[in-house]
Amino acid sequence: MAFVSTSPDPRGARRRRVALIALTLAAATALTGWVAYHWAETGARAELALNGDQRLGLYASSIRNAVGRYDYLPVLVARDHEVLGLLETPTDARRDAVNRRLEQANLSAGSAALYVVDAKGVALAASNWADPAQSFVGQTYDFRPYFRQAVEEGAGRYFGIGVTTGLPGYFLSQAIRLDGRLIGVAVVKIDLEPLQRDWAAGGERVLVTDGHGIVFLSSHPDWKYRALRPLPGPVREGLARTRQYDRTELAALGLQDGPEVESGARLVSLPDDPSEGDPDTRPVRRRSFLMQERPLPEFGWTIRFLSDPEPVRARATGAAILAAMGVLLAAAFLALGHQRRQTLRVQREARVTLERRVEERTAELVAANRVLREAQEELVQAGKLAALGQMSAALAHEINQPLAAIRTFVASTRLLAERGETGLVRDNLAMIGDLAERMAMLSGHLKDFARKGPARVEAVPVARAMDRALALLAPRLREDGIDVIQAIPAGARVRGDAVRLEQVFVNLLRNAADAMDGVADRRLDLAARPVAEGWEIRIRDSGTGIAEAHRSRLFDPFFTTKEVGQGLGLGLSLSYGIVRDFGGTLRAENNPDGGACFILLLPDAEEI
Ligand code: ADP
Repeated sequence: MAFVSTSPDPRGARRRRVALIALTLAAATALTGWVAYHWAETGARAELALNGDQRLGLYASSIRNAVGRYDYLPVLVARDHEVLGLLETPTDARRDAVNRRLEQANLSAGSAALYVVDAKGVALAASNWADPAQSFVGQTYDFRPYFRQAVEEGAGRYFGIGVTTGLPGYFLSQAIRLDGRLIGVAVVKIDLEPLQRDWAAGGERVLVTDGHGIVFLSSHPDWKYRALRPLPGPVREGLARTRQYDRTELAALGLQDGPEVESGARLVSLPDDPSEGDPDTRPVRRRSFLMQERPLPEFGWTIRFLSDPEPVRARATGAAILAAMGVLLAAAFLALGHQRRQTLRVQREARVTLERRVEERTAELVAANRVLREAQEELVQAGKLAALGQMSAALAHEINQPLAAIRTFVASTRLLAERGETGLVRDNLAMIGDLAERMAMLSGHLKDFARKGPARVEAVPVARAMDRALALLAPRLREDGIDVIQAIPAGARVRGDAVRLEQVFVNLLRNAADAMDGVADRRLDLAARPVAEGWEIRIRDSGTGIAEAHRSRLFDPFFTTKEVGQGLGLGLSLSYGIVRDFGGTLRAENNPDGGACFILLLPDAEEI
């Protein structure tokens, strides 16, 4: 049950979860980016506006200074005795003298021009009297507002393009009175062009407009003598009358107002090139600016400062990207941490499970081992008992027979001795001796079986050992009519113990004879040939052969197929042990044409 998910479609649920996480992440990134953008934009814009405000203050005071420096000049001129004398009674000599005085004063003050106009508006003397092309002397200025203002209010101030010189300037005028009667007007013309040059050199965008919104001072010459917004007809007519801007066209600048983004600062746009025609009717390329303005009430002007908002956007965009990246990075860290925790948890669980399994298996193994050991002990015990039983039965049989025979012979011998039949007594005693010999042989067998390790290591000629074994069994072989074919080379010499090798041969030959008991054709082939390991000796019979079922147990102690009393099942096991002690091997196989073959491999005697 633990492995079955409760969800009907775990893969679908997982995909939905991943989609949800991705969506949340995208939303968080976008939101953070947006907030960062606006936060950075507000900050940067406030900074920009503060800077603009400071610049405006600076430019306003520079304009005031530029004008204020000359305030005293017309007043001074209006009080001059020579000027008063000239206006009272104009003579050439007086005009000359005043001309020179004005020229001198103008030069030392640094103003553009200094001149005196009579009550009708005709210039009587001027600082520029010596320049015939530019001289104001003799010109009429009664239409100029600064003349009228002086006449009506005692003083005047006015910006306009000079009707004589064609050069723009700021005019300050002062009424000249004698005994309360107006006899003329003193005028100073101030050149403001150098101010603009300073602004342009600073790379800043500054413009000054008059009461009608006409730009007359600007860091950018393109904007000059253009109206911020189109001028109404009556205004144009008034301007033509005073010739304030002389004959300039005063086309529209094409300023478009945008929203106010800071207090006193609004976004505006201006055509890239104002000379491209009428920007109010034709689509043109525009550029955005942050515009701030400050009025100059004593002049009736407004000074405007334009700053480039691009750095604000760039800074805000940078902040947005940085913030979004921060969110993504944080998300990546979170995901990594989560995955790491997950992996650690899975590993810990796996380790715990593994440890538990190992413990369980170990406990099972320990239990199984205990059962196995008990079973094994029982088996060993049973095997021992069985072996002991078999051996006891066999030994009892082997010993009882000759004992019973001996008893019978002893009884009959006693009778024969009483009767004095010495010949028969001797025969009986010989029989008893044979039987005792057989018992001795049996006990010898058992002793051999108990013995460990080879008695001696010597070079044993195989043919001789075989001949002795054959000699021992000669009566049996003859009796059974067994043909013996011996082909063992005289040079075959192996490493071992002669007596024990004979014993092995006797065992193998006797087994062969036993196996041929029931067959008609009885034949023994004895051969030996040199091989890599030493000598291979084959003892081959034409008997019944070895049953497949017995093959694996042939060399086990006490394994026998013979009747009780016929065999103990020790012969092969004993022989196997002896051959192994010599450093050789013993195995058995069946011949293709019937019968069994026992094969010995023994090390060559040369290796001793
Ligand atoms: P035993 O001769 O006392 O039975 P062995 O250990 O000498 O004991 O032999 C074990 C068994 O191996 C024999 O009982 C017999 O079944 C089988 N055997 C041994 N030699 C041969 C042979 N040459 N042919 C067939 N069977 C054999």
